[in-house]
Amino acid sequence: MKSNHKISLPLLSAPNAVVQSRSPTTTMAAMARFFRSSSSAIRRSMSTAAAGELKSQPCPRRIDPKARNVQWVFLGCPGVGKGTYASRLSVLLGVPHIATGDLVREELSSAGPLSKQLADIVNQGKLVSDEIIINLLSKRLEMGEAKGESGFILDGFPRTVRQAEILDDVTDIELVVNLKLPETVLLEKCLGRRICSQCGKNFNVASINVKGEKGNPDISMAPLLPPSHCVSKLITRSDDTETIVKERLRIYNEKSQPVEDFYRGQGKLVEFDLPGGIPDSWPKLLEALNLDENEDKQSATA
Ligand SMILES: [Zn+2]
Repeated sequence: MKSNHKISLPLLSAPNAVVQSRSPTTTMAAMARFFRSSSSAIRRSMSTAAAGELKSQPCPRRIDPKARNVQWVFLGCPGVGKGTYASRLSVLLGVPHIATGDLVREELSSAGPLSKQLADIVNQGKLVSDEIIINLLSKRLEMGEAKGESGFILDGFPRTVRQAEILDDVTDIELVVNLKLPETVLLEKCLGRRICSQCGKNFNVASINVKGEKGNPDISMAPLLPPSHCVSKLITRSDDTETIVKERLRIYNEKSQPVEDFYRGQGKLVEFDLPGGIPDSWPKLLEALNLDENEDKQSATA
């Protein structure tokens, strides 16, 4: 069992839990440097496909990430599966999927400069501050820039309007995808989550069939069952209880509303109601984003 499997990463940063290893000015400056260095190319290539127009305007059939510099943010409740979709899209588009939760976990398991400090914070049940998240993200982006990465899909950031404003000061976020599922589905999904204590893979034992709300079609999701060698090693996260999940959703909704409004006001927010599990949702999501699963093959003849 991984020693950190019980760590529940906080959804939100709290101003009263600020722990700084470097001055925020330094880390934000570093972040700003990164974003500025890539933003001119982005501005040049920003197409007219502003997010708000995606649904109503015909967009180019293909999105060439090299020409467009995908700089996307994924929003969504805990348990909605945004990591899964963000990760798949990052593979399709050839840009990194950067999850701030992963950055924190990686730092925790490393001997990095923040690992001890982070361990103290999470062991005391405190929340990881904006400054630490920004510090980690900034390091990650600088590393990516050095490797020649173009664009990114952010997952787990920004979580506050303040963080969104920091991003906005220094770059053009092109698109913000807000993935949604009814609360009943989210709850069942979270309660069905299992992790293999040996290989660390995630599974879900819930077989979901929920009646659609407001005349929408029913939502069905098949379980994601583990292979036989993982079955006996499955564990449930200690914070995947009904009470905690409901509270997590309540806090998320309360705190995410201003961030959604922020991007809605900029015309960048795309709301996407997931119609079911991955097999149903993936093609529809691609359609909503004007993407094609087979773009690599097509690009040769385009
Ligand atoms: Zn396993």
